[in-house]
Amino acid sequence: MNKNIFILTHGDTGAFETGSVPFEVRIPLNGHGKKSVKKKAEVYPGLLVADHKNAKIGDMHCGITGVVTEVSDSYVIVKAQDLAAPAEGEEPKPTSVDPVSLDALEGEELQAALKGLGVDIRPLIKRCELLIINALNPEPGITYAESMLVHAKGTINAGMEMLKRLSPATRSVVALPTGSNAAFDDSDIAFINPQYPNSLNELVVANITGKESMKGVNVIDLHTLYNLGAVAESGMPLTHTVVCVEGKNIVAAIGTPVGALLKDASIEVADGDTVIMGGPMRGVATGDLNKGISKETNALFVMPSGATAPISDHACFSCGACIQHCPSRIQPNMISRYVEFNELDFCRQENISACMECGLCTYYCPARRPMLQYIRLGKHKIALEEAQVTACALQVEE
Ligand code: SF4
Ligand code: SF4
Repeated sequence: MNKNIFILTHGDTGAFETGSVPFEVRIPLNGHGKKSVKKKAEVYPGLLVADHKNAKIGDMHCGITGVVTEVSDSYVIVKAQDLAAPAEGEEPKPTSVDPVSLDALEGEELQAALKGLGVDIRPLIKRCELLIINALNPEPGITYAESMLVHAKGTINAGMEMLKRLSPATRSVVALPTGSNAAFDDSDIAFINPQYPNSLNELVVANITGKESMKGVNVIDLHTLYNLGAVAESGMPLTHTVVCVEGKNIVAAIGTPVGALLKDASIEVADGDTVIMGGPMRGVATGDLNKGISKETNALFVMPSGATAPISDHACFSCGACIQHCPSRIQPNMISRYVEFNELDFCRQENISACMECGLCTYYCPARRPMLQYIRLGKHKIALEEAQVTACALQVEE
C-alpha cells in the first residue's frame, strides 16, 4: 500500500486566494429561529441575517452586498447585486457594519459579543486543564495548515490570544507536524508524525498526554482558530472562511455555492462525478452544487466518475481489512452489520462510540461497503434512542 497518499504535509503553498463574489450566497442555518431579514431586503457585508436562541451558538451574517431572494428554516439566499441609489434627499445607505471592540470585554460579556459576531463558542469554553491546538492538516489532500501558519499568522495569533481569554485551561500545547519551525509564544510545542490518521484529535491527545482519554483536555483545530482569529482581529462578524478546493486554498463568503467555488478553482464537474464537502476520508458527498458552504466547511473535493468502484450495501466477506486498519481497535465489520439490522445494543457492546470516524475502514474495504456511513447512522440512532429515554425519565419524574 502506498503510504504517501496519507501524508499530511504539503509545505507552504502560498497566501490564500480571495474567492470572487458569487452570483448568490445560500447562507446555511442550523436552528437559527429568528430571521432578521425578509425577502427583497437589501443587505450588505456583516449584516445579521439570523440569530440563534442558544446563547453559545453563533449568529449568521451576510458576506456580500445584494438582495434577499428567499428565507427558509434552512437557509437565507442573497442574490449579489449593487444596491439601488438612495432617492433624492434620503440618507446614504449603509454598506457595512461597525466593528465591535472586544478588548475590554470579559467572561459572559465577551462570550455574548462573540456569539453576536457569529462565533460558536461552545467548543472554545469547554472545561479542561489542557488546551491543544491541532495545527496539522486534518486529512490527506487538505493543504491549508502550513500556509496558514505563515501567511495568516496574525489571524492565528489573534485567535490564540482570544482562545486563551475564553478557555479555562491552565496549559496549552500546539501540535505541529514533525519538522515544522512555526513558533508560538506562551505555548508548548509537540511534534506529530504527519501521517493520517495521526491528525485525528483523539490520536493527537494520545500522542501528547500518553493517555487514550480526552478527560481534562480540549482540542481546537486550526480552521476553527482561524475563524475565531478573523473575528478577534477585526471585531467584524464572521462572514468568510478558508476552503481547500482540491489543494487550492480560497477565502470564500459563507454560503458560497459549492459549484461556484469549484468554478473559482477552475474545476469542472462532469456527470457521475462525486462532490465531497470536507476531506476525502471523512467528508460528506453532496449532489447539490447550489448548496452553500458553512463556517465549518474546510475543503471540497471532486472524485471523478469511475475513479473507484461505487460504494454500496454489498455483503461483508469477512476479510478483516477494516479491523486491521482501525485505529480505535474495534470491529467495524461487525458494527456495520449490526447497524444494518438495527441491532443497537450489539453496536454498544462492540463500542461503536470509540469510533473516531477516520474513514479508514471504508477506504480499505474491498467489498466497498459504506462503513463510516453505517457507523455514523448507528451513532445517530443511539443518540436518538437515548434522548427518548431521557425525555421519558423526565416525564416520570414530573
Ligand atoms: S471509521 Fe472505521 S476504521 Fe476509523 S475508527 Fe471508526 S471504525 Fe475504526
Ligand atoms: S473490510 Fe469490508 S469486507 Fe473486509 S471484513 Fe471489513 S467490512 Fe467485511
